[in-house]
Amino acid sequence: MADMTDSSRNLSDLPKRQPETVTQPKTLSFFNTLNRSKAVLEPIVPGAIGLYCCGPTVYNYAHIGNLRTYIFEDVLVRTLREAGYRTTHVMNVTDVGHLQSDADDGEDKMVLAAEREHRSPWEIARFYEDVFFEDCGALNIIRPDLVCRATEHIDQIIQLVDTLVQRGFTYESEGNIYYDTARFPSYHALRGGPVDDTSAVSRVETDQGKRLGADFVLWFSKSKFPRQIMKWDSPWGTGFPGWHIECSAMASTYLGTRIDIHCGGIDHIPIHHTNEIAQSEACFGHRWVNTWMHGAFLILDKGKMSKSSGSFITLRTVREEGFKPLHYRYLCLAAHYRSELRFSWEALDAARRGLENLYNRVLALRHAPPAAKAAAKDHELPERYRQAFWGALADDLNAPVALSVLWAVIKDGDLDARTKLTLISEFDRILGLGLMDAQPPALPEDCMALIAERTEARAQGEWGRADDLRRRLMERGVMVKDTRQGTEWYRTDMLSSADG
Ligand code: AMP
Ligand code: ZN
Repeated sequence: MADMTDSSRNLSDLPKRQPETVTQPKTLSFFNTLNRSKAVLEPIVPGAIGLYCCGPTVYNYAHIGNLRTYIFEDVLVRTLREAGYRTTHVMNVTDVGHLQSDADDGEDKMVLAAEREHRSPWEIARFYEDVFFEDCGALNIIRPDLVCRATEHIDQIIQLVDTLVQRGFTYESEGNIYYDTARFPSYHALRGGPVDDTSAVSRVETDQGKRLGADFVLWFSKSKFPRQIMKWDSPWGTGFPGWHIECSAMASTYLGTRIDIHCGGIDHIPIHHTNEIAQSEACFGHRWVNTWMHGAFLILDKGKMSKSSGSFITLRTVREEGFKPLHYRYLCLAAHYRSELRFSWEALDAARRGLENLYNRVLALRHAPPAAKAAAKDHELPERYRQAFWGALADDLNAPVALSVLWAVIKDGDLDARTKLTLISEFDRILGLGLMDAQPPALPEDCMALIAERTEARAQGEWGRADDLRRRLMERGVMVKDTRQGTEWYRTDMLSSADG
């Protein structure tokens, strides 16, 4: 080993080192469902995060409850990336094998949808998958790096089931291959102990093949569902995979056998994710996922929103009611992802006011007079806001507090317009509210008519008339600005509004 105290060496003799360009990612803490506490994220590979999110079952439109979970996951991905982690985000699409109940009761949701809509299950799957990603796009949810369909990973699924069979974690009953939960002592860890509800008993009665209520199917091959159309050959007969094994197979295909973060909604804790852990850890022989993160539910006044019950609101309904998808994103960001969020049209209306107000403020800042854009006096103030914003997200993704920091920036009289815009654009890389693309607010018809008249006057070179029209608009609380893209405006009467 070199003598570190050797002072006889001349520093100029040493090879010149390149300056260190790799910056350390920021420290983030998240609540881990597995041990029910918050802990600092420790990546398996330094600087990189592998993230798996359970994707949609594509037998119907996603409802806004589902979309709340994907918004939470999007904020997580954006936070990880902005914090400096190389993040690989994988999401599955469940296009076969998810039965009516998560515990293998009932029939495949895809088959039922195909019958309902007189289309093939394949058509159903592609149609609802496309609509799902359109909805996500409208909500500024960044598409995952890898989207994988269960029906395109049957070989990997069969391989995983085979390993479980070889390792003695399964039994065959009435032609199906079941996971034997009695062979996996820590089975109940994620759900915090055995779940002893009566529905579990009824499930056992429904599926006579199970030894224990918690056991679940890895491969369906008995013709329990004679109408099943999506089928593949396997060592255990022609059939189709269970829903839970699909996620274990796809996650390990793309992220390996150790994963940093796995997400989903809280409904997945007691069955789906518990089963994913049992299968994966039995296969790999070690801990599979370090951090489990779960989003709380969006509920309606009358209770749970669910696709299968038919009582749900889609993004299309939200649009039909006159809202923009991003109004809904703003509503979701205003609640912590681990708090239940009660949906009402009044709450969405308040979110609309808040976001439109933000857009209006950004437009006003963009058109602020040069004097207001002069550098801020307190040079440390922007940095303190950055720290407050990051502090909120680093503390278990506290988006509501991060939003309040954004509002504080906007309202701070000691910050100049240019600095505010810089901070807003940085913050919006995580919030994803489209703040830098803010469009002028809707105006009453008479104001729109005045704007059109003024545009016409300017085109004719009638500058006096154009100035007069500008004055009339100002009296109505509308400030117009001419840009290369055309006329923009903001409402001065909204600038003092308390929304936000
Ligand atoms: P699914 O398409 O039913 O498999 O669900 C897609 C995602 O939405 C999963 O992560 C679920 O946990 C989540 N989810 C289902 N219902 C709700 C709800 N009401 N609120 C929030 N997330 C939900
Ligand atoms: Zn899953």
